[in-house]
Amino acid sequence: MGEKIKIGISRCLLGENVRYDGGHKLDHYLTETLGMYVDWVGVCPEVEYGLPVPREAMRLVGEPGSPRLLTIRTKVDHTEGMKKWAHSKLKELEKENLCGFIFKSKSPSSGIKGVKVYSETGVPSKSGAGIFGGAFLNRFPLLPAEDDGRLHDPQLRENFIERVFVYRRWLDFAAGDSSMKGLVAFHTDHKFLLMAHSPEHYRRLGKLVAEGKKYRREELHSKYIRQLMDGLRLLA
Ligand code: SF4
Repeated sequence: MGEKIKIGISRCLLGENVRYDGGHKLDHYLTETLGMYVDWVGVCPEVEYGLPVPREAMRLVGEPGSPRLLTIRTKVDHTEGMKKWAHSKLKELEKENLCGFIFKSKSPSSGIKGVKVYSETGVPSKSGAGIFGGAFLNRFPLLPAEDDGRLHDPQLRENFIERVFVYRRWLDFAAGDSSMKGLVAFHTDHKFLLMAHSPEHYRRLGKLVAEGKKYRREELHSKYIRQLMDGLRLLA
């Protein structure tokens, strides 16, 4: 895989005028700095699902675990339509070999955590994930995913970028020499990095690799990458 790393991103962060009010949320760090090293795959759930610009603002209402997506004033329910669209968009994204995704924070469609969920009487209470953001996390649990708000924290940003690069190396490994010997070499290359994040994950993965012959290749790879990404998520 010789091409640049691909990262998914909410299109308003790229400066596209797709927000409900006709504006954008251009993030200069993402477009001008990180953008030098990656290819963006832009996604705007609300516009790609078929809503116009400008449009009535929406919010999440109901249970934080399974909220509904409603327009604020006229209460039009877009939940099912957005879920259906998200399902086919996620299938399309599977083919992109993404190494991460940066979501717009607080959006009822794109947010991944801390999105306000309102009661039927309009009181914001608990917080959840936007309809597309939540579906993405369920479909791609291993992929590094952050929102623009959290990426302003230098430690979280460094952690995200590190995971993106490791994930890309994993995809390259899986597409190339994915033999047992190759896995040992991959593990050797990453073991100090992993140890800096979590000695416990380092120990568990060392044991997994040492006992690797007990598993089918697919099973071994799936256990390995899941634990590696879990360990790297912990701040060093
Ligand atoms: S937050 Fe998501 S849905 Fe809203 S404008 Fe940005 S990309 Fe589109």
